[in-house]
Amino acid sequence: MSHTVSSLWYQNLAAQNLPQLYLERNKNLSRHFAHCDDGRAFTYGAFWELAGRLQARLAGAGVTRGDRVAMQVDKSIEALALFWACVRGGFIFLPLNTAYTASEVSYFLGDAQAAVFVTTPQRFSEMQGVASSVGCAHLFTLDDQGTGSLLEGAVATTEPLRELSWDDCAAILYTSGTTGRSKGAMLSHGNLASNGLALVDIWRFTAKDRLLHALPIYHTHGLFTATNTVIFSGAELLFRRKFSAEDIVAKLPLATTMMGVPTFYTRLLQKPDFNRTATDHMRLFISGSAPLMAETHRAFQQRTGHAILERYGMTETSMNASNPYEGSRLAGTVGFALPHIDIRIVDPATGDVLAAGCDGMIEVKGPNLFKGYWRNPQKTAEDMRPDGYFITGDLGRFDAQGYLVISGRAKDLVITGGINVYPKEIEALLDGLPGISESAVIGVPHPDFGEAVVAVVACIEDVDEISVLAALKPKLAGFKLPKRVIAVRELPRNAMGKVQKAELRRLHEGLFKH
Ligand code: AMP
Repeated sequence: MSHTVSSLWYQNLAAQNLPQLYLERNKNLSRHFAHCDDGRAFTYGAFWELAGRLQARLAGAGVTRGDRVAMQVDKSIEALALFWACVRGGFIFLPLNTAYTASEVSYFLGDAQAAVFVTTPQRFSEMQGVASSVGCAHLFTLDDQGTGSLLEGAVATTEPLRELSWDDCAAILYTSGTTGRSKGAMLSHGNLASNGLALVDIWRFTAKDRLLHALPIYHTHGLFTATNTVIFSGAELLFRRKFSAEDIVAKLPLATTMMGVPTFYTRLLQKPDFNRTATDHMRLFISGSAPLMAETHRAFQQRTGHAILERYGMTETSMNASNPYEGSRLAGTVGFALPHIDIRIVDPATGDVLAAGCDGMIEVKGPNLFKGYWRNPQKTAEDMRPDGYFITGDLGRFDAQGYLVISGRAKDLVITGGINVYPKEIEALLDGLPGISESAVIGVPHPDFGEAVVAVVACIEDVDEISVLAALKPKLAGFKLPKRVIAVRELPRNAMGKVQKAELRRLHEGLFKH
């Protein structure tokens, strides 16, 4: 099932696709756009010209409208320009996590039937066989200095912009795959444009802003949320190849805003020189992609005086909800729906809309909703309601003030003895206990209850199971009490900082087998 861009958000725009929007929002192309950590700087015009050269290079190799252009390279401004080359040419951009192995890459190239694969010079020979085995015709290289065969012989394009509409597919992003096989979410020009423009508005981005960008650009957060907010406001990027707390502290004086995953903020808090003086001039810190612990939110505010603005989004929908720019940014909540986006909470089984305060499935509708899963209409249909709402798989509720609170993921739901347990509730209690830095509560097969609640806790000092259970007992109904508490040094995480519960479930599946 595919969706056309709903609502009338775009009616007053002259632009009808992303390249046109880039030019409409940046009439003065001589303004600064990106400052790279290798000392190079790009104006909006220079970046546009670079994207044009890459577009011409691909077109010269025979790539045509609708072809998939896959990329697995280290972060560089050229890699970002490749996305804009694709949208200029009507090609479909397909970024891949740099950590994927050859066999994973083989799955993505094959599933997407990619025409082009851009790899690093180091992995070129390894990837030659991979690309040819799945019929990917063109293999180019690109390194993090912006050199490689992709740029060789690339000359400025004189091609006019293609006739593309908001509904054309701009990119396919494979979902993180913390559970199950990755699916390719098709995102249209309109999906990305509507979301980027909404974020400029609600986060008050202007041409005076400089965003500290240390996120990877193979994921929606670093690729779209961060860069499109900058581009659609004519702001500037401080483009860092990798995150390090030292580097962020060093570059802070040049920045006005920062976007990060929660881990960025917890690591920054470990640095004593990250304090009120260092952050005084900053306008805004934004967090997303994984839950920001209320404790981190409070510690950050205490240390810097800034309330981190937490927002909620996902690959298929881009951003859905955000805490307010003005008004209280409440720890442990993700705020309100973005303009033109509707969020509702329903009973996962019946689809009935639930009252405020009740936990249920979070469903979303708006111009941000993806076009569907690539070559997977069945999965697309499964995740959509007939009235156009997308079933996010996240569980949550609206609190008394109307803020959205995420209480867990549907796949995280533990059903023990026929009763539902929401892991988030137990994790919040565990995280508040002395000696525990964070926790993950999972369901593990159990001969009597079907599933048993098990807590895996990351400890900063010795923690014993009996005292943890004793601390929880007064606060939790008996069926919610973990049957086991397992202490570890740290929780397994994927590249986006998300705890890999599927991995934990696999590790502990034999716990109650006799
Ligand atoms: P991804 O598609 O990799 O961006 O993952 C999207 C998922 O990340 C969502 O469905 C949520 O489960 C989770 N997520 C994103 N932002 C938040 C947040 N602020 N709080 C809690 N979970 C989040």
